[in-house]
Amino acid sequence: MTSLSLLLWIVSGIALQLAVFLGIRFRHHWRGYRALPPRTAAPGQPAARGAPGGTGAIAAAAWPGFRTFRVDRKVVEDAGQSVCSFYLVPEDGQPLPPFLPGQFLTFRLDIPAAAENTEQLVRCYSLSDAPRPGHYRVSIKRVPPPEGSRVAPGRASAFFHDRVTADSFLQVRAPSGHFHINRGGDPVVLIGGGIGITPMLSMLNWCLAEQPDREIWLFYGVRNGRELVMKPHLETLAAEHPNFHLRLCFSAPLPEDLAAQNYLHKGRIDINLLRLQLPLKPCHFYICGPAPMLEALVPALDEWGVPDTHIHFEAFGPSSIKRKQPATTPGATAQAVGPAAGIVVTFAKSGKQVAWQPAANNLLEFAESNGIAAAYGCRAGSCGTCQTAIRAGEVAYRQPPDYDPEPGTCLLCSCTPKTDVTLEA
Ligand SMILES: Cc1cc2nc3c(=O)[nH]c(=O)nc-3n(C[C@H](O)[C@H](O)[C@H](O)COP(=O)(O)OP(=O)(O)OC[C@H]3O[C@@H](n4cnc5c(N)ncnc54)[C@H](O)[C@@H]3O)c2cc1C
Repeated sequence: MTSLSLLLWIVSGIALQLAVFLGIRFRHHWRGYRALPPRTAAPGQPAARGAPGGTGAIAAAAWPGFRTFRVDRKVVEDAGQSVCSFYLVPEDGQPLPPFLPGQFLTFRLDIPAAAENTEQLVRCYSLSDAPRPGHYRVSIKRVPPPEGSRVAPGRASAFFHDRVTADSFLQVRAPSGHFHINRGGDPVVLIGGGIGITPMLSMLNWCLAEQPDREIWLFYGVRNGRELVMKPHLETLAAEHPNFHLRLCFSAPLPEDLAAQNYLHKGRIDINLLRLQLPLKPCHFYICGPAPMLEALVPALDEWGVPDTHIHFEAFGPSSIKRKQPATTPGATAQAVGPAAGIVVTFAKSGKQVAWQPAANNLLEFAESNGIAAAYGCRAGSCGTCQTAIRAGEVAYRQPPDYDPEPGTCLLCSCTPKTDVTLEA
């Protein structure tokens, strides 16, 4: 070996060692950088500038199970006094993970029941503001009994309104849910019906702070002006942001609404109104409201030619909307609903075997109609309370539920059997 080639070998060896060293240092720094907490923002500004788009970062920072929060403030939000916001701060004082605007919190509530007992309920409530440092906010509507009936009013919402006050403590699961706004350049159309406005407020506040130049529309449908939630806030935003278009729709305006003419449209939000108002651009639609509203609007948007990928929606309870795209969720077979007749459902713990009725909405209702008591919370695939092990067989979902069931389990409230199925219930 010549002295030149020896020198070359030595230099290459040193270069290689240096490259390995630098590689390791870079990896170390990159990990440290990724682990940094979100930038703290000025009061009133969103906590973390970031791109809503994946839940990975949220999952990493989220806490497991339930965490204790203190109610810092309780604020009435409408003239009719039926919606209250609750500002929640963590009891442990530790930082809060940000969330994706549109996501919700899950609460475990111990509600006073007869004979000094308590009844445990699990309910989900959407985060109603953009991520802020130090607190979360939810806004809850008092749910009355169905018109003309004598049953009790909504238990969890009555508990929040009547019993939860500033300084109450609540058990809360980390933000979750697949219904959230995505960063992008396309115009955003938010459609909120009634209390379905809450995730829209989170998306709106986030979008105007993070993407102030993005075109954003809000169609907000209520019966009358007394039901409008955070009206002054919405009007201020509309006045400050020329690219934000606020459209209020009253289905049953009161005389004072008619006199003030403080709404755009007398009637429900429908496809004709959207076609009339919206520019001919590829918009992203985010819809949340009562089941009949979703069941009318989603297929109508589809017929109008809006791609499935541009229609995002969430129901606060059971709904029968079918996604064109099949559901893909861990532990479940991805397939549109429509099981063949002749399927047998076995409830192993209850020792019952029943022929599936294709008319049943889901396995939870089917179990209940056969006298099998199953735990449930939201009945909308969001809270996970009805998660049940599948011993054999397969199930299918109409659309991917918000709560990802563990492998080998299903959410009874959101699926139907695809084959003969044996459930741990
Ligand atoms: C992802 C998600 C996000 C949500 N976000 C929000 C939000 O931001 N804000 C909000 O206010 N809500 C939200 N909800 C809805 C919320 O979770 C609850 O469903 C709602 O508050 C009603 O719960 P409750 O316990 O008060 O009513 P329940 O006790 O569950 O009662 C519901 C209705 O049934 C009636 N009822 C009671 N007993 C009977 C009976 N025997 N027969 C027939 N009817 C009966 C009640 O009078 C009431 O009208 C959300 C739901 C989901 C799934």
